[in-house]
Amino acid sequence: MLDSASEILRLQASGEASAVEIIKRSIEQIEASQDKINAYTCVNAELAIRDAETVDVKRKSGQPLGKLAGVPVAVKDILCTTDMPTTCSSKMLENFMAPYDATVVRRLREEDAILVGKTNMDEFAMGGSTETSAFGVTRNPWDNNRTPGGSSGGAAACVASGTVPLSLGSDTGGSIRQPAAFCGVTGLKPTYGRVSRYGLVAFASSLDQVGPIAWSVEDVAVLTDVISGFEPRDSTSLNQEPPCLSSVLQSNDLRGLKIGILEDALNSEGIEPSIRQSVIDAAETFKQAGAEIVEIQLPHSEHYVPTYYVIAPSEASSNLSRYDGAHYGHRSAKVDGDLLASLGPLAATYCKSRSEGFGTEVKRRIMIGTYALSEGYADQYYNQALKVRRLIKSDYDAAFSQVDLLLGPTTPTTAFPLGERLDNPLQMYLVDLFTVGANLAGIPAISLPAGLNSSGLPIGIQLQAPALQESRLIFAGSAYQAMTDFHKLRPDNFSF
Ligand code: GLN
Repeated sequence: MLDSASEILRLQASGEASAVEIIKRSIEQIEASQDKINAYTCVNAELAIRDAETVDVKRKSGQPLGKLAGVPVAVKDILCTTDMPTTCSSKMLENFMAPYDATVVRRLREEDAILVGKTNMDEFAMGGSTETSAFGVTRNPWDNNRTPGGSSGGAAACVASGTVPLSLGSDTGGSIRQPAAFCGVTGLKPTYGRVSRYGLVAFASSLDQVGPIAWSVEDVAVLTDVISGFEPRDSTSLNQEPPCLSSVLQSNDLRGLKIGILEDALNSEGIEPSIRQSVIDAAETFKQAGAEIVEIQLPHSEHYVPTYYVIAPSEASSNLSRYDGAHYGHRSAKVDGDLLASLGPLAATYCKSRSEGFGTEVKRRIMIGTYALSEGYADQYYNQALKVRRLIKSDYDAAFSQVDLLLGPTTPTTAFPLGERLDNPLQMYLVDLFTVGANLAGIPAISLPAGLNSSGLPIGIQLQAPALQESRLIFAGSAYQAMTDFHKLRPDNFSF
């Protein structure tokens, strides 16, 4: 019941369930799974039930209802909400109450969706395993000893564990698609600018984008339609009417579509053979639907991760400078001793507040970014990375002059055991090998469940499209899901 927004809407429309019943079920599911999975940083049961009552009253009195009326939705704890804290899973913002709702949250409420909670994440969205959260790790619903991925690990796990059918994450270098792949759900990173980031706490402003996670392409399309569109308060938001994605769903006819299969990605070192095979099988499925499959290369793909890990930390070091205990964020209770004597009261407060408020990975990023931007090194690192980014973008342009879509793996491996990569940042960064390209180029990309490996862990495949062509992802992705059953697989302990 709780694994599809369309089913929840149908149950309410036919009178088989009220919004209050649906929300209570969602809350029960959260309570049953939270101890084990820890997908949420905050659950607001009382408020959610009150909102559901309002929807039921509206329905009874025949008032118009929004597109997501009575559907429980969870949002990543990096999106501002006025009725729940927005912590970014950091001690720095523990207890922070935003004075306004993020635009995407406002749009959800306008469509009568019910916000049940905020989801756990890597601190300030920096990471790929949700292990850097200040509020404990999130566990993968398919195997509790493994990571759900990150940084939107809570947003993927809350859907995969059946607590809500829809959630919102953010994707700076893969944070929607990688956890979606690890948790066996569908996740979309829209084109840069398609969805407003007003009220999304900034990590790396030239890369960040908000997007949906759900069990199916159909639900992803519905949620993307709700959150997309122009927001005058966001200077990076596109002033352009988005197309209706829910109207491009397809079952099996992809004639005329040309898909490039990323050969280099399939042959890259360290890729799990079952993932490679799933991409090859997917190409076959697309072919059966009439698509033409060709091999294609993105010549600079080996530079994606290094380029991203210069640009993202550089922007982060600037964005996070506002958290100093005076302007924003945690303020150290006691500044004294040698620190006070050597720095004076202001700098000592900044220093101690930041030392206490940020975790190890965030500090590492701030230091890398500060270094890459510093005088004497900026040309070698930051400015150089911008030039490579341009080449990466040109590669995509060249590829999309030949094909409509690119097909490849979402990740090199399936979900890895908790703790495995935490002390090895480089290994953790390599998880982003196939996802960061879309962020650097600003293009949309979707991860689709593509089966399980021999250990029963979900595999994700990725489709990438030219900027503003989300509809192609939905078109091909929905055909794939109509022709396969991978998106219908559920973890063992999944219950409705
Ligand atoms: N894993 C990447 C990082 O750590 C991506 C994170 C993201 O997309 N928010 O930066």
